[in-house]
Amino acid sequence: MDGILAQLVILSHHLGDPSRDYVKLSQGNVSARADEKSFWVKASGTELRTAGPESFVRVDFGRVMSILDEGDLSEEEVRQHLADATLDPQPAPASSPVLTPSIETIAHAICLELEGVDFVGHTHPPVVNVLTFSSGFLTVAEELGLLNENGTGGPPLFVPHADPGLPLARLLIIHLNSYQDEYTRQPEIILLQNHGLIVTGSTAEDVENLTAQAVKMVSILHL
Ligand SMILES: [Zn+2]
Repeated sequence: MDGILAQLVILSHHLGDPSRDYVKLSQGNVSARADEKSFWVKASGTELRTAGPESFVRVDFGRVMSILDEGDLSEEEVRQHLADATLDPQPAPASSPVLTPSIETIAHAICLELEGVDFVGHTHPPVVNVLTFSSGFLTVAEELGLLNENGTGGPPLFVPHADPGLPLARLLIIHLNSYQDEYTRQPEIILLQNHGLIVTGSTAEDVENLTAQAVKMVSILHL
């Protein structure tokens, strides 16, 4: 098996481990840069905890990112574009459906294009799902010094609620750009309002460790 894909399968099992409670069933997703032009991402409908190498599809960066230039697309149209961006689709047995990239593949492409990022983990920890991002949340986080405690020197990026897929991807770009302007760096922890968490890293271990730290940080804020 491809070395990157092997690491991605392990990351998938760790983030999908039911004892960690980061995701339910087929929620959440992981991805990794395969080479300059393509990346691996978990297919729609497969589960993190049971994913094998066959659960991932390889997609073309350029084709995925070009979806952002399209106008308003229906979810069905986005899924078709994502299917078209798939490289070497696996010949599926007649009994099983063809694997298609997750609807959040565009957000993964955006994060994997950030400097130094080779792995991305997207989870739905319950503590993050209920975040409302009230002004009080940020004040308390700042007072507790939690925003700079993730060991990376940069606070998390907060992204307000958007529908999954293209709307979320477009909003993510806007907020990444503002973050870059404010901090002259990119975030490693991204909190999605009423949705979950995106963590970026240069290694699968970074993504796993930062996910644990982010969940711990948010849990403390809920006390
Ligand atoms: Zn999600």
